[in-house]
Amino acid sequence: LSERLSGVFDKLTKQGALSDDDVKTALREVRVALLEADVSLPVARDFIKAVQEKATGQAVTKSITPGQQVVKIVHDELQHVLTGDADPGALKIDNPPAPILMVGLQGSGKTTTTAKLAKRLKEREGKRVLMASLDTNRPAAMEQLAILGGQIGVDTLPIVPGEDPVQIARRAKTQAGLGGYDVYMLDTAGRLHIDQELIAQAAAVRDVANPRETLLVVDGLTGQDAVNVAQEFDDKIGVTGVVLTRMDGDGRGGAALSMRAITGKPIRFVGLGEKMDAIETFEPERIAGRILGMGDIVALVEKAQETIEAEQAERMMKRFQKGRFNMNDLKMQLEQMMKMGGMEGMMGMMPGMNKMGKQMAEAGMDDSILKRQIALINSMTKKERANPDLLAASRKKRIAKGAGLEVSELNRLVKQHKQMAGMMKKMGKGGMLKQAMKGMF
Ligand code: GDP
Ligand code: MG
Repeated sequence: LSERLSGVFDKLTKQGALSDDDVKTALREVRVALLEADVSLPVARDFIKAVQEKATGQAVTKSITPGQQVVKIVHDELQHVLTGDADPGALKIDNPPAPILMVGLQGSGKTTTTAKLAKRLKEREGKRVLMASLDTNRPAAMEQLAILGGQIGVDTLPIVPGEDPVQIARRAKTQAGLGGYDVYMLDTAGRLHIDQELIAQAAAVRDVANPRETLLVVDGLTGQDAVNVAQEFDDKIGVTGVVLTRMDGDGRGGAALSMRAITGKPIRFVGLGEKMDAIETFEPERIAGRILGMGDIVALVEKAQETIEAEQAERMMKRFQKGRFNMNDLKMQLEQMMKMGGMEGMMGMMPGMNKMGKQMAEAGMDDSILKRQIALINSMTKKERANPDLLAASRKKRIAKGAGLEVSELNRLVKQHKQMAGMMKKMGKGGMLKQAMKGMF
């Protein structure tokens, strides 16, 4: 996709704010990328609409194209949508023995994932885990879990021929309690397709075990189908999270986005291979990059933004050292302050301004004042900004009016500017400025 995008975006090289057309052109490509990544059509459509609203009118960072900027916005939004649980890897396993129910279609990777998670719980959290296979359709499947258990050193419930899944679940529960296990995992049977019998069986098991976690295992290579499956399982059984397997393959993982958007269930883990260690907690950022297939562009935009901030800081510092600090500098600082968590935090970082920050906070000067001050500076002419000494009473009236504010507020801004300019000058001479600036950028 990056290649195709750069072709389209090379044409969009003008700077400034993102126009409607820029955004539309870029989003057409993004839409194709989403569909190619198996994101379902309605999900892609809604997503594009959300991005369009966010992107139009945003400023374009110097040295990247509008298209690239859009991609970054898309990426961030994608990550935002994909982010579910704050801590997707934390399984709810207090109150031992905690039951975990594994559900999903046949071949999705349930048995493998059961063993992978058991190994993780044992190694990372020191939990005693009991695994039980409820797959009575295929004796080989029960054998498979026992073999994996042997490999990773996790106990499996002894196989008793002739039991049905509900009986096995009961026995697992009893055994987990008697054996002092922290967790017992129920690996259910799957079908190739979802059907009533499969659902009824899983529901019966659920009612016996009352699981703390019900994890739906889904093959990440299946696209749209995965979403239907997820929705059905969630409606009928109720799932607490999704595990996406086979993310080591070529699949782009668009199912992750569709599933999250449609079912609202968080993706908790991703399977990355057949080996027992090949599982990781879900990281939205990674999948976002993968779905778009344009991680390089995102990195480029981030780099460009960083470079520009560093350049700005450098330029500002040079000016301050020469004792120059005009309204443009103040505006830049105010904007930086907004970014950095407001006035008090920012002032606290600068030597000598700690007190000022506190005083401002006490005087009820909250962050809305930053916005008003920026508005006042915006209302000044270029000349006035460069040389605040020009600000006579008549000009002040005009400026305040332009910003829709009182002259008294402008006077406060001017006074603050003077104080800061004085301080900058002093600090510049003493070499303290450099130190102070380090904390700011
Ligand atoms: P189940 O029918 O849902 O229990 O599926 P299995 O756990 O038996 O897995 C079916 C096949 O998929 C096995 O050959 C696994 O080794 C393989 N498998 C499971 N998870 C992954 C994964 O994350 N990546 C890859 N490449 N293969 C996997
Ligand atoms: Mg299985």
